[in-house]
Amino acid sequence: MHKKKISLTTKILGALVLGAITGIIVFQFPDGVVKNTILINGVFQLVGQVFLRGIMMLVVPLVFISLANGAASMGDIKKLGRVGGKTVAFYLSTTAIAVAIALALGYFIKPGAGLNLTVAKAVKTVVVAKTPVVQTLYEMVPSNPILAMSQGNMLQIIVLAVLTGIGLSLLGKKGQPLIDLLENLNDLIMKLVEIVMTFAPIGVFGLIAKTFATVGFVAMMPLMKYILTIYLGLILISILGYASLLKGFTGLSIRKFYKKFFPVMSVAFSTASSNATVPVNMDVCEKELGVSKGIAAFTIPLGATVNMNGTAIMQGVATFFVAQAYGIPVTISMMLTVVLTSTIASVGTAGVPGASIIMLSMVFQAVGLPLEGIGIIMGVDRLVDMGRTVVNITGDAICTVIIAKQEKELNVDVFNDEKKDLTKSA
Ligand code: ASP
Repeated sequence: MHKKKISLTTKILGALVLGAITGIIVFQFPDGVVKNTILINGVFQLVGQVFLRGIMMLVVPLVFISLANGAASMGDIKKLGRVGGKTVAFYLSTTAIAVAIALALGYFIKPGAGLNLTVAKAVKTVVVAKTPVVQTLYEMVPSNPILAMSQGNMLQIIVLAVLTGIGLSLLGKKGQPLIDLLENLNDLIMKLVEIVMTFAPIGVFGLIAKTFATVGFVAMMPLMKYILTIYLGLILISILGYASLLKGFTGLSIRKFYKKFFPVMSVAFSTASSNATVPVNMDVCEKELGVSKGIAAFTIPLGATVNMNGTAIMQGVATFFVAQAYGIPVTISMMLTVVLTSTIASVGTAGVPGASIIMLSMVFQAVGLPLEGIGIIMGVDRLVDMGRTVVNITGDAICTVIIAKQEKELNVDVFNDEKKDLTKSA
């Protein structure tokens, strides 16, 4: 009898559900060797970390090689500049819209009203030192390429890769052997992404099971309104915001987009890291959504670093939440300050778990909210982080598809082809 092959998407979905159920069950176990040593820090940790480190391993080589290769094959410096400008404009405006949505929700839902501050235990907060804008700008140029790569500094790697690509295309015939080599290396890394992704269901299971087995459900209860308000914002932007952007700018179907994009979302949800999703995001954008390598190799790593719409939503809601919890009225000028600082703070947030909770201190300082307020939401941040990371990386891909379509770098037939299985070897 012909046995139907289960698609990767279905397997990952199953792993997510199974991981969550297993985690919730293990959470009920009494502390001891079985719960802590064998399960949480044993099996779950092992399979989760093997997968996570497997994809993280590919981020730096993939970004450098495919971007250098993409920039060299684009060959047109003016086009590169135009794509860069459009991408940044798009990223910044969607983030500002996201904060505005969050503020509206915070205003109407009032997530922090009536919160008993003694029930929600405050944790000590870390404060970020502000980096001057000028320094942020010049630090995008790496003074040492090896250091940039070993530290995984995405912006510096992007600058290095784009310059390498431009240099190679200016070399003309002499640069061709190196361009060919980059092309081959790129194929190799994409193959490695596919290999690591076959392990995704097990890895996702481990990561989710560990999170749910350790998350403080008791701490969650007083903050339920806060968590749900953020998730409402995340759903609103994903369904209404992203769908209308995609439809409005390209006429393409959001259903097809999400169907193909699901594995990327699941990696984001289980790892809570935009950086970790870069390889699979690029893979899906190129092979499933039909975006050219030149565009995806640029917009996806850049987006993972600077475009954080989910993070912006969390920061907007958190501002209202803490203000309401402390009984501080939120004025219009405070709201405008939040839109500005949250947009900047989310750009400065690294694509790693929990990064924005630290950047939030910048927003709170700007509007004069008590920094201890951050400590209140810290205990449940992982749950929120998983959702906002999904929205962060989805925003990158939506923008990528739109820009690719405008630049005539999108293969619409590939986008519309629903038969292909995600991230499966050709
Ligand atoms: N975890 C988020 C990301 O990687 C950043 C954050 O909001 O903490 O996109």
